[in-house]
Amino acid sequence: MIRTLGYGLPRLGPRREYKGLLEGFWGGSLSPQAFLQGLEELEGLRLTAYRQGVDLYPTGELSLYDPMLDLAVALGLYPVAPGDLEGYYALARGKGALPLRKWFGTNYHYLVPRLPERPHYRPQPGWFPYPVGREADSGEGLPTLMGPYTLVRLAQNPPTSPREVKAHLQALGEAYAELLRGAWGRPVLLQEPALILDGAEEDLPHLLEVYRLLGAQAPLVLLTYYLPLRPRVAEALAGLPLRGLGLVFEPGAPLPRVPAGTALVLGVVEGLSVWRTDLLPLRGALGPLVEAGQEVWLAPKAPLHHLPWGVAEPLPPELAGRLAFAGERLRELALLKGLLLGEAQGEAQAWYTPPSPWDRGLPPPPPPRPPREVRRQAQRELSLPPFPTTTIGSFPQTKELRSLRKRLHTGDLDQAAYWEKIQEAIRENIRLQEELGLDVLVHGEPERSDMVEFFAERLEGFYTTAKGFVLSYGSRVWRPPILFAPPRRREPLVLRETLFAQSLTPKPVKAILTGPITLAAWSYLPQGVGFGEAVLALAEALGEEVREVAAHGLRVVQVDEPALLEKLPLRAEDHAGYLALVGEAFSRVVGGLGPGVQVHLHLCYSDYAALRPFLETMDPDVVSLEGARQEGEFLEALAGVTCELGPGAFDVHSPLEAPVEEILARLQTYLRHLPAEGLWVNPDCGLKTRRPEEALTNLRNMVRAAQRLRERWGSS
Ligand code: GLN
Ligand code: ZN
Repeated sequence: MIRTLGYGLPRLGPRREYKGLLEGFWGGSLSPQAFLQGLEELEGLRLTAYRQGVDLYPTGELSLYDPMLDLAVALGLYPVAPGDLEGYYALARGKGALPLRKWFGTNYHYLVPRLPERPHYRPQPGWFPYPVGREADSGEGLPTLMGPYTLVRLAQNPPTSPREVKAHLQALGEAYAELLRGAWGRPVLLQEPALILDGAEEDLPHLLEVYRLLGAQAPLVLLTYYLPLRPRVAEALAGLPLRGLGLVFEPGAPLPRVPAGTALVLGVVEGLSVWRTDLLPLRGALGPLVEAGQEVWLAPKAPLHHLPWGVAEPLPPELAGRLAFAGERLRELALLKGLLLGEAQGEAQAWYTPPSPWDRGLPPPPPPRPPREVRRQAQRELSLPPFPTTTIGSFPQTKELRSLRKRLHTGDLDQAAYWEKIQEAIRENIRLQEELGLDVLVHGEPERSDMVEFFAERLEGFYTTAKGFVLSYGSRVWRPPILFAPPRRREPLVLRETLFAQSLTPKPVKAILTGPITLAAWSYLPQGVGFGEAVLALAEALGEEVREVAAHGLRVVQVDEPALLEKLPLRAEDHAGYLALVGEAFSRVVGGLGPGVQVHLHLCYSDYAALRPFLETMDPDVVSLEGARQEGEFLEALAGVTCELGPGAFDVHSPLEAPVEEILARLQTYLRHLPAEGLWVNPDCGLKTRRPEEALTNLRNMVRAAQRLRERWGSS
C-alpha cells in the first residue's frame, strides 16, 4: 500500500494570516475570541489544503507561537492552564520569556524550555492534541507533538549523565503516556528530529523503552527528518511495534526491515530547497519495495514550513517551471504516488527540468595575510585610542527609511532621489557618531532592508521574491532569496555608501559586508550545488568588492557572519571539513588585503568555546561578539587568541537604558579575562531595531564608559 503524508505546512498561511492574527491580538485590535476564531479558520484552511493534496496529515499542528513551547506547557514545565493565552504569551515574549535558539541549523527559532531539576512532570492533557484547531479537525488527522528525546536534547539544561538521561526519559514516558490518552486511538505522529543527532545511539536503550510504553497507549508514527538516521539507530527503532517509522530516504542506502503492520514513512521530496524533485529516479528506487508488499508512506524530507506556502508572482525564465514551494510539495507526493501506481508518467516527466550547469571556476585563494604582529604595527596608522569604540553597523531603521524603500520599489521615487535621501541619512549618522566621540565609524546601513536580501539584490545570480515569506519565530517573517546561478557583482555592494560616509569624516569608516557563510545559510541554494561550493563562489564575489574597497583607500573592513555556528554540521565527522571551508571562504574575502587594512569579524554569538577554532583559522584583526547576556568568565575559553575582542558592552535587544556604571562594570569583568590592549568597546549587535533615542542614550553611555576605563587604566 502507498500513501502520502504531508506535514509542517506553513502555519503562516498562504497570505501571512498567522502574522496578522498574532499581531492583531498582541496589539489589542483583536479580542481573544476573534483571535481564536481567526486561528480556527486558518487551521481549517490548512487542513483543507492537506486534504486536497495528501492522504495523511497532522492535526494540532497550528501552534500558538512555537511547538516546543506547546510541548513545554502540555508537560507542565510551566504552570499555564490550557487556554490561558496571557500565561502562554508571557513565556513567549514577556519579561521572563524563554530564550530563542536556532532549530537544527535552519533559520527557524524555537523557544528553549528548561527541564525541571528533578525528573518530575505534570502533564496537562488539555493542551494536547490541540493548541487550537479543535473545531477544524474532522477526526481524520494524526494528532502530533514533539517527542521526549527532542525535548531532552534541545532543552536549556539537557541532562549530562546517562543516569539523568534515563531518569528524565522514564518520567517523560509516563507523562507522554498520559497525554496520549487524549488521542483516542488515532495514530499519533511523534516528531523526533533529535534522533538524527550524534549521541542518539548511546541513548537508544532508554528510548526504546519509552517508545514501547507509548506504543501501548496509541499507535505510534515515529517521525524523523532533515538527515537520514544512522543505520544502527534505524535498525533499533525498526524493532519496535510502531504504526510507522519515518526517516529521510537515501536512494541506494539500505532501509531497515520493519515488522508487518509498520509503515515505512520515507522522506522523499525536498523540504529545505525550492527546486522541484526529480521524481522518476525515485520510482526506480522505491518500486521494488512497494512490489515486495511493504507499506510505504511518501513524505517530505523536512517540515514544509521552511518554504513559503507558494509564490504567485511571475518568475524569471531561469526559474519559471522549476520551483516547488510548500503547497507544491504536496502535489509532488501525489505525483510520486501516481508514478508508483503506474500512472502519471507524462506529468512526472514534464514536472522536472534538470539544473543548468554551475559554471564557476574559482581562481586559487589569495596567500595568507601577513602575521598578526606585522598587521598590528601597520594598523597603528589608524591612530586609535586604547579601548576603541565602535558600533556593529546598522543604525535605527526608521519608518521613513522603510517607506523610502517601498517608494523606490513602486517607482514612486527614482534612484537619484532615493540616493539623495540615503545620503542624508548617512550624513546624519556620521554627524551623530562624531558628536558622540566614537572612534571607528559606520555609515549606518540605511539602504539595507535586510543583511542578506540587500546583497542578493546587488548580486547577479540571485532572485529575490516579493512575497515569498517564511516564519522565523513568533510572528517574524523573512524572505529568503534564491541563488540560482554563480553570484557575480552586478554593481558595487557597499563601496558607494561607505565612500560617501568616509568623505564626511577624518575618522576611519568600516566597510561592512555580510559574509559568505551567512549569505549562503539564509538563502535557498541552487540545485545540485553544495553549501561549500555556493559559499566559495559567494566569497569570491565579496572578495572582489573588498579589494575594490581597499583600493579606494578605506582602511577598515567588517565581515558579518551571524550564521557561522548555526551552520556547524549536525554531525561531528563533518566538523573538520566545515572549519576548512570557513577558513578558505574568509581568506577569499579578505586574504588579499595589505597589512594596514584592519579586518573585523562580527558574530552575534557568545558560545566562545565553540568559536575558538574558527577565530584561530579565520585570523581576523578584531572580533565583535555578543557579551551582554553572558557571564564574563566564559571568555576564558578565548584566552590567548591573537585577535582583539569586542564582547558586547550592552544588549541591543533591550529597549532599556544601559547606564554608564553598568557598562563599565561589564567592561571591567571582561578585563579580568582579556588583555587590556586588545579590548574593544561596542554593542552586542546592530542597532537597527532600536528607536533612535534608545540607541543614542546607550551609545552615549558606552562612550562615557570607555572614557572612564581609559582614565582608570592611566591613558587617554
Ligand atoms: N552589520 C549588521 C547590523 O549591524 C549585523 C547584523 C547581524 O549581525 N545580525 O545590523
Ligand atoms: Zn550581530
